[in-house]
Amino acid sequence: MSELSAQVRRWVRPEIQDLVGYKVADPGDAIKLDAMESPWPWPGDLRDEWLNRLSEVALNRYPDPNCGDLKKVVREVFEVPACAELLLGNGSDELIQLINLAIAGHGRTVMAPAPSFAMYRVIATLSGSEFVEIDLADDYGLDLAAMQAAVGKHQPAVTYVAHPNNPTGNGLDLDEISSLALSTEGVVVVDEAYYAYADSSFLPRLLDHPNVLLLRTLSKVGLAGLRVGVLIAHPEWVEQLEKCRLPYNVGVLAQVSAKFALEHRQQLDEAIKRVLGERSRLAEELRHMPVVERVLPSETNFITFRLKAIPASRAYKHLLAEGVLVKSLDGSHPRLSNCLRVTVGTPQENDLFLGALSGLS
Ligand code: PMP
Repeated sequence: MSELSAQVRRWVRPEIQDLVGYKVADPGDAIKLDAMESPWPWPGDLRDEWLNRLSEVALNRYPDPNCGDLKKVVREVFEVPACAELLLGNGSDELIQLINLAIAGHGRTVMAPAPSFAMYRVIATLSGSEFVEIDLADDYGLDLAAMQAAVGKHQPAVTYVAHPNNPTGNGLDLDEISSLALSTEGVVVVDEAYYAYADSSFLPRLLDHPNVLLLRTLSKVGLAGLRVGVLIAHPEWVEQLEKCRLPYNVGVLAQVSAKFALEHRQQLDEAIKRVLGERSRLAEELRHMPVVERVLPSETNFITFRLKAIPASRAYKHLLAEGVLVKSLDGSHPRLSNCLRVTVGTPQENDLFLGALSGLS
């Protein structure tokens, strides 16, 4: 071992050395159907107007640390109750990190269902917290009794639930989230990254549950490149979380662009509608494919499905060779064995994916 390696080994915290970091696949020339992005770029005429808006930005100045103008529009678009407060982040990933930093931290426990969003574990490890996973029920909903028992045993400081859940795609039962929130003294974070594609939201119940923090993101509705995440919660939580936020965490280009996009939200809404239409078609076509064993119900902009007889690793490689990048979930959790996750693309992209998949035998 070189001197430097020994030094790195000595000083980097052991739990970080053991951590498997979040990996982003290199798409090369393939169509990206692996990361729940919107397949549609910003339309041409609006692009010019947006570029004009950007040309007025003073890049020599720091951005507004409070994202005041953007928050006003977000509040309106998300119909945030007047007595709830907002905190914006560099994607909701940053907000998860911030919550853990302020509330979980060293020696405390973070809990989440399994399988769920991979970053809950990664960020819990970064914040020095214990991480407890509770398997989802057979229907991929919450196993409420098991989660409540775990609350009693581990007293989690923070419990994450993604509604709808990634990587399964299904929505959760709002009454069960409420019951979970009532049975823990800690915080419950309801992560609504896929709110735009879901049948329900916890937002109308937020004020009934002072220990719930709600997360949303603009990443799944056509603005993944901006990195804007939104936390909605009681002002007392936000006041404390604000102390952990780096002062200029959302850049000026992101603030101005997100505000512009939300002011033209009918464009976003149309794209969401098209995704919903394509999601139904894709699910229907997948259900009829001989290589597909099961299609999980989706309230998101992706579909998770299990293959029959053919190993997911082979299907993944075959799809990539045919120019389509999806996500293999095989090996990530026993409930996802031999499963792939595909993001809903444009009709052409989806046809390419379906054509490539049907070529498997
Ligand atoms: N929560 C969930 C459930 C997600 O699936 C994702 C993205 N994959 C995120 C949060 C993070 O989104 P972002 O950081 O882009 O806002």
